Amino acid sequence: MSRLDQRDVESMVVESHRLKMTPQRRAIVDYLQSATHHPTADEVLKAVNEKFPMTSRATVYNTLNWLKGAGMVREVYEGGHVRFDPNTSNHHHFICRRCGRVEDIEYELIGNCQFDLLPGNQKVDIYEIILRGVCAPCQTINKQ
Ligand SMILES: [Zn+2]
Ligand SMILES: [Zn+2]
Repeated sequence: MSRLDQRDVESMVVESHRLKMTPQRRAIVDYLQSATHHPTADEVLKAVNEKFPMTSRATVYNTLNWLKGAGMVREVYEGGHVRFDPNTSNHHHFICRRCGRVEDIEYELIGNCQFDLLPGNQKVDIYEIILRGVCAPCQTINKQ
């Protein structure tokens, strides 16, 4: 499994010779690498602002775009929102229809689909499946 890591980002910055690792950028990477809920850019902004109240939306968006361009985070599109995913390995997602929580599902857990039956003769390299339902915490709430 490959996951966003502050050390990789630091060495990429050193190699690029043109980017600077500011405390805000570091805080963005820190937050993302430990985030398991696939935050939106606004959630990243809110979290980083708790530490660095002057962090601008532009800084957050630029940093996210830069990490995405470097293949260090992935985007997940859901319900008109773009969410950011520090897990860059192939995997699927489970989305809770009650709380909107997005969870990672291991790639291997979902069996092979019959891609040879595709009508357009497309050649599939990887696939991402979105499973929908009710997450474990929401099921508990329901039982109370
Ligand atoms: Zn839920
Ligand atoms: Zn994910």
